[in-house]
Amino acid sequence: MNSINLTSQLIKCHSVTPKEAGTFKVIKNLFKNTDFNIHEINKNGIKNLFLRWGSKHLPTFGFSGHIDVVTPGEISDWKSNPFSGEIIGEEIYGRGSVDMKSAVAAFCTAAISISQKTPPIFSIVLLITSDEEGKAQDGTKAILEWMDKKNERIDFCVVGEPTCPEKFGDMIKIGRKGSLTGYFSILGKQGHSAYPHLAINPIHASMKLINLLTNKPLDNGSKFFEPSTLVTTSISTTNKSNNVIPKNVEMIVNIRFNDKHTGKKISDWLKQCAKNIEHLTKTKINIKISISGEPFFSKPGYLAKLVKESVKKYTGISANFSTTGGTSDARYIIKKCPVVEFGLVGKKMHAVDESVQTSQIIGLENIYSDILNKFYLDVKKDRK
Ligand SMILES: [Zn+2]
Repeated sequence: MNSINLTSQLIKCHSVTPKEAGTFKVIKNLFKNTDFNIHEINKNGIKNLFLRWGSKHLPTFGFSGHIDVVTPGEISDWKSNPFSGEIIGEEIYGRGSVDMKSAVAAFCTAAISISQKTPPIFSIVLLITSDEEGKAQDGTKAILEWMDKKNERIDFCVVGEPTCPEKFGDMIKIGRKGSLTGYFSILGKQGHSAYPHLAINPIHASMKLINLLTNKPLDNGSKFFEPSTLVTTSISTTNKSNNVIPKNVEMIVNIRFNDKHTGKKISDWLKQCAKNIEHLTKTKINIKISISGEPFFSKPGYLAKLVKESVKKYTGISANFSTTGGTSDARYIIKKCPVVEFGLVGKKMHAVDESVQTSQIIGLENIYSDILNKFYLDVKKDRK
């Protein structure tokens, strides 16, 4: 099966996170008559796949990806059914076409074709999860824990997330910022708007808090990272009345931070700011913090060079190394081995009418095959 048909079959499965919804059956069928060993790793009801070709004691090249997708939203907003996997003209449509069923299809087909062409003097592993778009706690993390237990080796890994901002081939990611969300609950004192001196206004306190959090930049960026950012994503009160000062306000801020910070450092700072505003405004502020990822960075070395060369060969573009964008499962894999991310143009990910040019899927398959082939040649050279 080619990678375009495989993508289409995967899109047909309603694998809204964290469900695999039949995608694993499609993948298992694909690998049926190959020399890959397939392991299913289940944790807390979440299913993941680990595939290996060749001995686990040999130099091992890995690919990682997810087959879960975000919700399509209103299906009537879509030109065609988001789970049809329909090919219209040069494009294949559907939720997950960009993020990232195409890349999973591309690395599966590339891995099979290379395994059939080369002697097993090296090994290939594929890490496929259905828990990336949601909590991402029982997905790649669980596969890596299982690998540790079984002494499963991995030396290099490419994550197939969509990485290119404009043109296919223009960006390889070598790191990502961390992400932290602060949930503030600001308690004031309800009162009449004509007698504000008798009340404590939590809305005004929330504005003072935002001012304190945003009055100076978190940093000016670092060698490989853009400056950290802080964004207020919600301020809400249930009050609809024009003459009542509400009792409380809920406020959410999301911080994307670079390698100049840690989640702990940012948490401590948020708590201190909340304390200062409590003191200043006589409010009571509760804060809950959720850290979804620390920043990670993979210094460009052998792997980054290998991927860059293959991208150049097939697209003619000299890709930029970047650390932009949200978090990804690469943040877990970096603890095991060097990791970079390379995939499709990401413009339409998570959007209505998500679609990808079929030529890009073939391009990605060719690039992944070329990376594996070069790795094989390098292993062969080292053995001499
Ligand atoms: Zn993704």
